[in-house]
Amino acid sequence: MKKNLLFIPGPVTVPESVLAAMSKPLIDHRGPQFAALAKRIDDALRPMFGTEQADIMLLGSSGTGGLEAAIASAFSPGDAVLAAPVGVFGRRLIAIAKTYGIEVDVLETDLGHAVDADALAQRLAQDKQRRYKGVLLTHNETSTGVQNDMAQLATAVREHGAITIVDSVSGLGATDFRMDEWGYDIVVTASQKVLAAPPGAAMVAVSPRAWPAIEASKTPRFYFDLLKAREFARQGQTPWTPPVSVLFALDAALQHYHNEGAQRVWHRHHMYAHAIRDAFNALGISVFSQPGAHSVTVVAGNVPHGVDAATLLRKLREERGVSLSGGQLELKGKIIRMGTMGEVSQTDVLGAIGALEIALLEYNVPVHVGAGVQAALRVFLDMAGGTRHETTHDAAQKSDERTAVQTTGASR
Ligand code: PLP
Repeated sequence: MKKNLLFIPGPVTVPESVLAAMSKPLIDHRGPQFAALAKRIDDALRPMFGTEQADIMLLGSSGTGGLEAAIASAFSPGDAVLAAPVGVFGRRLIAIAKTYGIEVDVLETDLGHAVDADALAQRLAQDKQRRYKGVLLTHNETSTGVQNDMAQLATAVREHGAITIVDSVSGLGATDFRMDEWGYDIVVTASQKVLAAPPGAAMVAVSPRAWPAIEASKTPRFYFDLLKAREFARQGQTPWTPPVSVLFALDAALQHYHNEGAQRVWHRHHMYAHAIRDAFNALGISVFSQPGAHSVTVVAGNVPHGVDAATLLRKLREERGVSLSGGQLELKGKIIRMGTMGEVSQTDVLGAIGALEIALLEYNVPVHVGAGVQAALRVFLDMAGGTRHETTHDAAQKSDERTAVQTTGASR
């Protein structure tokens, strides 16, 4: 079997123990075993969301279903919200809101940048009448490889008091998130990203402050109704038949996550993203996200001049067994994206970077041979164990100088 290295930003490579959990015999989703499963999942999710107070509900859907449930349940047709998109998924929140007759004002941000917390605070300060019932935010924007500073944005919205909805589909679990402390109201994530389980379950955490708004909502809805979801979640159930096998996998994936330990998981994503950014830069693929806005779960880079992105990605997948993603909408053909989530090792990252390098060389892109792998490797050596090893770094730098001398003139 040809091994496929999956570096798309979700779904991701799922550990074997998690896949194996899916083959367990099914259980009664209205019985005590399911309630125990739901409780274990709830307990394991709480530290990731950073909440003790919220209700956490499991939905049988991908992340978009969770976002739709959040928006449809929290507002009513004719309500106004402020959205602060930083890419395709932020715009999806707007599209969902508009579908439900919600008026959306937009705080625009240039692609590649994170939301400016001061600009958000100013915009909300202008809303003296408190017309905005909600604020729609994206924690991690997968389409541009941008991560918002959610602690800062929380401060910017707190004063206004609107209900905040946070899309953390590709963010939650990869960095510290403190829903209670920062005061976020509805936070949504999904099984197939950082948690490294198969797709099929969305998780929606709702703060006590958001429930009165949800109870007052007049939006027509049936399947994606957070009030129904809460009623059943409190009995250890879901209103509709849940994706039981996916939840078995999610349970195993959460155990896997906590066995590794949140701090180590954060460090791993941070280190991989750093390594990939350095490798991209070394290969002439300039990083799309701006300094201070880099995501730890996905790195986007500008496709070098003269390279056809679709062909590059196809060659990588078909000839080298490495799957990366391209750009979406207006960034299609302009960027490539590489995820850091899932069960991928440092060796896998180095292999994928090596494959990318070969593919670029085949395109006659003037790449310094070994530059990408060397840049990534140096980050791994520097950041091993969460500490910086000066001696290793110095050694790597010396070896870099040696290699540069050896390969001068050989690069193409
Ligand atoms: N939001 C973000 C930030 C995402 O990355 C994604 C998926 O990539 C979604 C929402 C949509 O999630 P799903 O594809 O699970 O519906």
